[in-house]
Formats: sequence, C-alpha cells, structure tokens
Amino acid sequence: MTAVAPETTPLQQRAARHLWGHFSRHGEGITPPVITRGEGARIFDAEGRSYIDGLAGLFVVQVGHGRAELAEAAARQASELAFFPLWSYATPPAIELAERLASYAPGDLNRVFFTTGGGEAVESAWKLAKQYFRKTGKPGKHKVLSRSVAYHGTTQGALAITGIPALKQDFEPLTPGGFRVPNTNQYRAPQGLDTDPEAFGIWAADRIAEAIEFEGPDTVAAVFLEPVQNSGGCFPPPPGYFQRVREICDRYDVLLVSDEVICAFGRIGSMFACNDFGYEPDIITCAKGLTSGYSPLGAMIAHDRLFEPFADGSTVFSHGYTFGGHPVSAAVAMANLDIFEREGLNDHVARNAPAFKATLEKLTDLPIVGDVRGAGYFYGIELVKDKSTKESFTDAESERILRGFLSTALFDNGLYCRADDRGDPVIQLAPPLIIGQPEFDEIESILRGVL
Ligand code: PLP
Repeated sequence: MTAVAPETTPLQQRAARHLWGHFSRHGEGITPPVITRGEGARIFDAEGRSYIDGLAGLFVVQVGHGRAELAEAAARQASELAFFPLWSYATPPAIELAERLASYAPGDLNRVFFTTGGGEAVESAWKLAKQYFRKTGKPGKHKVLSRSVAYHGTTQGALAITGIPALKQDFEPLTPGGFRVPNTNQYRAPQGLDTDPEAFGIWAADRIAEAIEFEGPDTVAAVFLEPVQNSGGCFPPPPGYFQRVREICDRYDVLLVSDEVICAFGRIGSMFACNDFGYEPDIITCAKGLTSGYSPLGAMIAHDRLFEPFADGSTVFSHGYTFGGHPVSAAVAMANLDIFEREGLNDHVARNAPAFKATLEKLTDLPIVGDVRGAGYFYGIELVKDKSTKESFTDAESERILRGFLSTALFDNGLYCRADDRGDPVIQLAPPLIIGQPEFDEIESILRGVL
C-alpha cells in the first residue's frame, strides 16, 4: 500500500490508495495534485488555487477549458445516439467529421479511419502501410523508420517506433521493424551543420535515404515523422527538410506519415502542420486537439491511393476499435472545429506566434537557458550547464533539476507545464491557443523567477 504524507487531503489519500498514474512515480510522500476545474487557459486545484495551463493539459485543450457548448454537443449526441460502431455501419457525426477532415487535409488525403487516440492512429497507419504493400505486390515492405528520441505512443507497435530507449527496455522484444534516424535538433547538430539550417536539413533528410538503403528498400514500408518533434525538446524542421524527405519517399516507394498528434489543429497555426511546412504526406495521424480533449478521439487520414486495394469489396482493412469514431466524440470534434472557424483560432496563433517566441526568447539572458526553439504555440526551452560550450547537465543533475521543477517550483508558482528529460532537460510549453500577450508575459515571468 502506498504511504500517504500526513498533510495530504482526503482526495489525495484516496488517489494514492487506488489511482495508478500514467508514467507516474508512486511512493511515500508522493501524492498527485488534484485538478478539479478549468476555465479558459487556467486550471484550479481542489483547494481553489489557480494555475496557468502552459501545456493545454497534455497538448490537447486547444480552445481552452470550460467551453459549455462542447459539453452541450456531447449531451445532444448522447441523447440522440450515444453509441454505434463503425464496423460496417456509419453514423452522421462520423460521416460529417470525415468529410471535414478531408477538406482540411492537403491533396488527395480523403479517407479517414477513426481511432480513440494518437497511439491507435499510429498503429493504424503502420498496419495500413503493411497491408497496402501486401495487397499491391510488395509483401516484404513492413519496416518503418522513425527518428531518434521521437515519441509515437505506448502500445507495443507504436512503442516499437518510439525512439526513447528508456520507455522500451522493459518491454523488449518489441515488434521488429522500428528503426531510428537522426532528428532535427539544430542546437546539437553535428559541427558545421549547427549554424547552417539548409545544409542540416539536407543532411538529416539524407540519413533517411541512407537508412532505407541499409535496411533494403524492399523491406521499408513507411517513415513516421512529426512536423515539429516534441520529445527530446521541440525540434522544428530545417528549411527544405520535408521537401527532401518527400523526394526520398517517392524514390523508394516508402509512405510518408506525418504524425500530427500534437501539431495538428492550430498548434502551429493551421489545421494540419504539413500545410504550414509545405509538404504532402501519404498519411496524417492526429488526435488530442481534434476534440480539444472534451472527448477522446483520434484519426488516420490516408491518401486515396492507399484505399484502392480496399475499394472493390474484395479485401477489408483488417483493423478496428470498438470506440473508434465514437459518435459523441465525433459530435464534440465538429463543435470544436466550429469554434476554431468562428473565432479564427488558427489566424490568432499565426498572428501571435512571433510575440510568443519573442517573449520566451527574453529568457536567453539567463545563464541556464541554452536554447529557445519551436513554432506556433509550441516551444521548448533547453537548460544547459554551460551556455558558452553547450555543456549538458549530468543525468543525476538533470534528474534533480527536472524533479525540482516538476514537483515544486513551477507548479507552486502557478505554471503547469512539463520538463522533458529525454536527454538534455527541456521545459515544454504548448498552451491553449486562446492566449495572448498577457499570458505570454505571465508564463515568462514565472519561468524567469524559477530559473
Ligand atoms: N504520437 C505523438 C507525436 C504523440 O505526441 C503522442 C502522445 O503524446 C502519441 C502519438 C500517442 O498518443 P496517445 O497518448 O493519444 O495514444
């Protein structure tokens, strides 16, 4: 039984006894803060203390907390038809949402397969890639490439392509086939490339070609890339990177999967971040901001070409989830996207992103801040031991700093966010998209005080 610190509240004691946190440390004296309410960009704990939500929950609550119209959309749909599966049947909200997502997606990405979350969307994309190639005469193509330190989910397929060894080691052997290539960490790029973004972009993209050659082009089905990689510390793509990757994928007949579980729905300033960076993937995976978290939902959006083997009724995509495309979640997503359009949220992000960047960049005058990087409303602040040499903290130092930030200082000072310890410590920021300069200043001021 987990010990409970004497000063904890009854709710925390019950949590410590029965609730098993995700990726959460349990033990003596550790109890989770209990969050009871949200309003706009703020969350409140059980004692009524208020925090600015610097991470939109978990890169999720794009339109902010407390939107009654999303609750009403859920209630309306639940009263009309609470549940019916998409297994050989369809429901109006799923049809409308599929049509709407296709209208936002670039080019011929018109076919939408719903899931309940991001990891399931990633699983679906890998399985589609395998089955597609099997049905089109290239059965050996089954492997996928992904990038170093990238996170694509925790189900065993998604975990296989997640590039974070610490998350995988207790679960090996995993599905064979996840191979890693370098990410686009410009700050720690090989010497010479760290100051030349164009050259770095070409170099990083060419490592994908090299990996495909090494594995054997006849064995590689897909490459999974986030438009801006979150894990490891918010790495935007260097100029030209995705255009080069697209050429490489075409050359080797490898599917380009844009994993937009974080980056879609306004995080970078448009519905899909591949539009921001000017490339057309074969598949988009998305979740999180699709409903702003008011109900769980994910989706895989595939190019028409990938649907062709399944279009004449002779073969089915052998894959599905009971709750994938849940009618209530689909209705909530429609209402969420209505808010985006009515309030011009994407334009708001595009207009205010330079001010967010400029406000956070003020922190670079602090000796511990090595780099501030990101795009849209999605930033990482890398902490270093020695700024002039970019020397990193040791693992033990890093752990101490991060635990300090996570468990005490930032939260106690009114800012909810996370610090990523997959390598060098990076504070992650991805606030609700509704905020502007007053909240940018508040975030900067709390960070400055604590750092
Ligand atoms: N892909 C990316 C890029 C993610 O960031 C995440 C989660 O953060 C996932 C996939 C997995 O999503 P979920 O936690 O909804 O399964």
